[in-house]
Amino acid sequence: MQKIKNYINGEFVNPINNNWLDNYNPSNGEIYGQIPNSTVEDIDLAYNAAQSAFSQWSNTTLGTRSKILSKIAELIKEKLDFLAEAESKDNGKPISLATAIDIPRAAANFQFFANAITQFASESHESVGLDAVNFTLRQPIGVVGCISPWNLPLYLFTWKIAPAIAAGNCVIAKPSEVTPMTAYLLGEICTEAGLPKGVLNIVHGLGTTTGQAIVEHPNIKAISFTGGTQTGAHIARVAAPMFKKLSLELGGKNPNIIFADCDYDKMLETTVRSSFANQGQICLCGSRIFVEASIYEKFKKDFVQKVKQLQVGHPSEKSTNIGALVSRSHLEKVESYVKIAEDEGGKVLCGGLEVTVPGYENGYYFQPTIIEVQDNSCRINQEEVFGPVVTMMSFKTDEEALQLANDVTYGLSATLWTNNLNRTMQFSKQLQTGIVWVNTWMLRDLRTPFGGSKASGVGREGGFEALRFFTEAKNICIKYE
Ligand code: NAD
Repeated sequence: MQKIKNYINGEFVNPINNNWLDNYNPSNGEIYGQIPNSTVEDIDLAYNAAQSAFSQWSNTTLGTRSKILSKIAELIKEKLDFLAEAESKDNGKPISLATAIDIPRAAANFQFFANAITQFASESHESVGLDAVNFTLRQPIGVVGCISPWNLPLYLFTWKIAPAIAAGNCVIAKPSEVTPMTAYLLGEICTEAGLPKGVLNIVHGLGTTTGQAIVEHPNIKAISFTGGTQTGAHIARVAAPMFKKLSLELGGKNPNIIFADCDYDKMLETTVRSSFANQGQICLCGSRIFVEASIYEKFKKDFVQKVKQLQVGHPSEKSTNIGALVSRSHLEKVESYVKIAEDEGGKVLCGGLEVTVPGYENGYYFQPTIIEVQDNSCRINQEEVFGPVVTMMSFKTDEEALQLANDVTYGLSATLWTNNLNRTMQFSKQLQTGIVWVNTWMLRDLRTPFGGSKASGVGREGGFEALRFFTEAKNICIKYE
């Protein structure tokens, strides 16, 4: 049984109260490790380490910081297979996905911010006629908190940590208690890369104990959080009276809008991916599919046929397209939404049931599921399922498609399939989301702003936006004669 420990001040340590949680392998339902359930005392320890390291780290040259971040990226790349295996075991995702996407992206996050910090600049303004010049100092905030979810564990964990430390902050980071393994392994990598002690501290535990202690800590001045909308709202309520800087990347219920004039084959292939990649457990998955009426029946037939071909299986099998969901409770939530949809008049076109994988009978497997709905106001179209379940319905006009797409509390991303330039521009301007993909999905350029509107979050990360978040802007005004 593997014991994961907290990484504080460059050392692996037990939780002070010696309180542990079980860690499950989703592919077979077995407990295979334990993690600390850290409390306020552990956060205090991590805070003291981070605070002690801050003065030196924030004065470390950009060249040195950049070199260390690059080294971390290099080590992640060197350990690709080992990390991908660990991620797949901990999360249930196909190893092919962890190898192709999750781990390379974790390395890319460090490499990107290793470069970005050397190019980050701030503004100066000459006050003409007043004989004064202003410049903006962008200083690291101090000790910051990074809290991440279970769906893309190392990918999202490093997406926050890399810009935070590149900008000169010291970090207390908490991965999801459901997928702690690769975060634990990152500690070893940081030590090997020569990251000074205390710059990154990784604490494990439940959101309601460990996460809450980070958010409540009076001297942790900024929180970057990715997770559910309800958790985000709670964090905002706790943090606001202390005037903490907050970046909240929350849930989504993203529209995938398909027009008859699109490149049909490319759309179909990508729509299978945007619906079911990572078992549908990506905040950017297009879980509401809207199809122009003239191609609705054809699309329905082709899409169902393709989805039925997807292989649900053990994450380590090369042939597996759909691995295990992350936990038993999550599987039950997903299953309950299929029932809710049926009760509301939805028609299951394929899937809808738990799958038993021979040899792994206690694993958390679920069929990729397509539900035909008639009304966008039904719960399955309004609430985030975050699993391998998509809905589809038809529309007749551009106005109707836009209205359906925007008629939801969330506003993370949207995908649009069309070859009409005017329509592309009109939808791009009017879709109420932080990201619009046209004729593609999940194509990411790390320089771009990333985040959602409405109930999908506040603030933007990615590129210089993340470096702006992790720094405090100070205006210096110098009067001269
Ligand atoms: P979650 O909100 O349950 O947990 C996310 C993290 O917050 C975990 O580390 C958890 O331990 C911690 N947490 C929980 N309660 C807390 C509290 N009171 N104080 C501080 N921390 C607390 O989310 P999840 O189930 O792990 O992840 C799924 C959700 O994340 C989905 O809603 C998904 O859409 C969202 N998500 C959003 C993005 C994005 O970029 N917008 C990306 C991935 C996932």
